[in-house]
Amino acid sequence: MRLLIIEDDQVLANHLKRDLEQAHYAVDMVHSGPLGEAMANETEYHAVILDLGLPDKSGLTILRNWRRQGNIVPVIILTARNTWKERVEGIDAGADDYLGKPFHMEELLARLKAIIYRCHSRVQGALAVGGYTLDEARQMVIKPDGEGVSLTAMEFRLMRIFMLAPERIHSKEVLMEAIYDYDRVTDHNVIEVYINHLRKKLGKELFRTLRWQGYRFEPGAGA
Ligand code: CA
Repeated sequence: MRLLIIEDDQVLANHLKRDLEQAHYAVDMVHSGPLGEAMANETEYHAVILDLGLPDKSGLTILRNWRRQGNIVPVIILTARNTWKERVEGIDAGADDYLGKPFHMEELLARLKAIIYRCHSRVQGALAVGGYTLDEARQMVIKPDGEGVSLTAMEFRLMRIFMLAPERIHSKEVLMEAIYDYDRVTDHNVIEVYINHLRKKLGKELFRTLRWQGYRFEPGAGA
């Protein structure tokens, strides 16, 4: 899943990016409000972490602009003062959640996961589709028969995308965008390699190739 951080405090932003990458998110980071606003209109992020106190444009203005233009990307706002008024303003402007600084990384991760799952798939708690469950803590998939299969970081990132939208056909381009950030763009063919790894581990029939279109996760296919 791909995230955008808009935060002018570079130390905090770097820290966030590192921790979120460890949690298997692809992360783009900007320190400028207007740039971040434009990026979230061009790229389909799974969520945005938005600082309200930006020097070149208010986070609230950015958020209001997105919502006015119909951009419904899930947004967590970070507020330095964390007063109730600011929180109310943030929610009114269309934020999905908020966190006051300083905060614990674990809390941000939990809230992030909750808004992404809520906004993208309406599931609560663990991602589960067709008897397959994603175990985020152990980086595993639990199969319908209860067997756990360990995944590499990239396999895990892909699997999470598939399970979040199982009915959808995912093109290689979309999958690339979801698992890599701007700094690590590489050849589309790596997607094929990772999908083949997943097929070997979980079953060939689970990942259908639709010619010229992409891939679909079909957990019912082997049953
Ligand atoms: Ca700030």
